[in-house]
Amino acid sequence: MGLVNMKEMLQKAKREHYAVGQFNINNLEWMQAILEECMELRCPVILGVSEGATKYMGGWNVVVAMVKAYIKDNNVDIPVAIHLDHARSFEVCKNAIDAGFTSVMIDKSRSPFDENIKETLKVVTYAHKKDVTVEAELGKVGGKEEDVIAEEMYADKNECIKMVNETKIDALAPALGSVHGVYKGEPKLGLNEMKEISDAVMIPLVLHGGSGIPDDQIIQAIKNGTAKINVNTENQQAWENIVRQIVNTSDHIWDMRKIIGPGKKGIRDVVHHKCEIFGCINKA
Ligand SMILES: [Zn+2]
Repeated sequence: MGLVNMKEMLQKAKREHYAVGQFNINNLEWMQAILEECMELRCPVILGVSEGATKYMGGWNVVVAMVKAYIKDNNVDIPVAIHLDHARSFEVCKNAIDAGFTSVMIDKSRSPFDENIKETLKVVTYAHKKDVTVEAELGKVGGKEEDVIAEEMYADKNECIKMVNETKIDALAPALGSVHGVYKGEPKLGLNEMKEISDAVMIPLVLHGGSGIPDDQIIQAIKNGTAKINVNTENQQAWENIVRQIVNTSDHIWDMRKIIGPGKKGIRDVVHHKCEIFGCINKA
């Protein structure tokens, strides 16, 4: 299998009622931890890469070359997608696609609806010619700026239908109460709205802000049409816990492999648990 786009993996997931995890990568160790665990569990996986993480790693080509080389040298035979997370413009998507990303998310959810459709269509037209899949977003996922998730931030069903029909995107992220980062209080997803949107648009839905959502809501979201779930914050926290403990308790360790390397175990544990809940084990 190796490097693929998201189309087959998400359509199969939707058909068979499980979800594929998007786990974001920041460097070599993060990619290793996620791919090692998914290889062991025989899970398909989406490596999420933000524009910021790409800059951190040194560029679009660096990311693609690193993932490709790792797949080759380690005989990675599960389906792996390299997916651009939350691109704000066509230009950013084009850079990623030209370098070899197999999937992109164009996020114009903060722009007026017509503008969102227009830019998304431009991305889809370019991407599909190169066999690259596209995810788009409607409504507003909460985060740093919004502490309160109001229902007016929810995606509108009729806009979702229009978006899917006019742009032919491969996956849709309708904001329904999830949050990037840490939840304040118990998350409450709009699960009924999710089912209505899924029944109306038919394509696989994406759930952002998958860290910190109780397992029972995740399971219900998958039943209601979600086939891709993004997880990042929990991996960051698990990695940080381990690395901080090493830094705080061990003096005079200067071998970086012994400082940041053990953090991989935390990421692997999170990925393992999520894949169990998502139902994607042995689906590769
Ligand atoms: Zn997101």
